[in-house]
Amino acid sequence: MPITLEPDLRRALAERIRFYNELGIYDFYRRETNPLQAAPELQPEPPEETTLRAKTVVVAPPMEEDLFAAPKPESRVKDPAKALRMVREDLGDCTRCRLHKQGRKQIVFGVGNPRAELMFIGEAPGADEDEQGEPFVGRAGQLLNNMIKAMGLQRRDIYIANIIKCRPPGNRTPERDECETCSPFLMRQIAVIQPKVIVALGAVAAKTLLAINAPMAELRGHWYDFRGTKLAVTYHPAFLLRDPRQKKEAWKDLQMVMKELGLPSHVRGAE
Ligand code: URA
Repeated sequence: MPITLEPDLRRALAERIRFYNELGIYDFYRRETNPLQAAPELQPEPPEETTLRAKTVVVAPPMEEDLFAAPKPESRVKDPAKALRMVREDLGDCTRCRLHKQGRKQIVFGVGNPRAELMFIGEAPGADEDEQGEPFVGRAGQLLNNMIKAMGLQRRDIYIANIIKCRPPGNRTPERDECETCSPFLMRQIAVIQPKVIVALGAVAAKTLLAINAPMAELRGHWYDFRGTKLAVTYHPAFLLRDPRQKKEAWKDLQMVMKELGLPSHVRGAE
């Protein structure tokens, strides 16, 4: 059962995981103890279950959830399209963080197949997305479309969303509190869609979802267990536009995803 962690405890836990990662330790296993006794595990002794195996799967620390919260209304709804509409209605004309008064034109909820096996998660809407109300429709979106095509898929096969749903002024990086305020709605979208694979596009998405602060070069190339869903990290398309040499690396990440989804391997990279 998910447990609620105090923000300080979460930060301490993320620090500790980063510390282990720096030592080359990536695999963590949960001890079967009373979750309310989690704090003693933050003492300096590394947990016995920690192994030194090569980088494979990191168990993502759960994002904050309210242990005592009532089940979300959409959890009883079978039709994922309807359930997503319920999440959207609940979000409303959101004023939960400062971004609603900093020039956003509209909320960019997410788009695609409510039963998608593959979900891409970016950072935040930019100017084009803010204008059109759809994620990844600008230049970075054109490249993402090419990446999707290169995988043998179409945009309508997958679901695309962002960590935050409102454009930050001047496209600045989202603040931590904005991510924390907005991401519960993304978590509900993920819970409804139940994708087989999530791809985090770029550092903000990866670090927010995994609560790990590591360079992109280290974050990508592995599978992570995100609340029971496989999660891979790759470069953000906007970064690939700035540094096209990294497309080769991104293509390796996507091939890893294709293999997991049983998609035929293609020879064509994302141009
Ligand atoms: N960059 C993102 O991270 N998301 C978008 O929707 C567009 C650009």
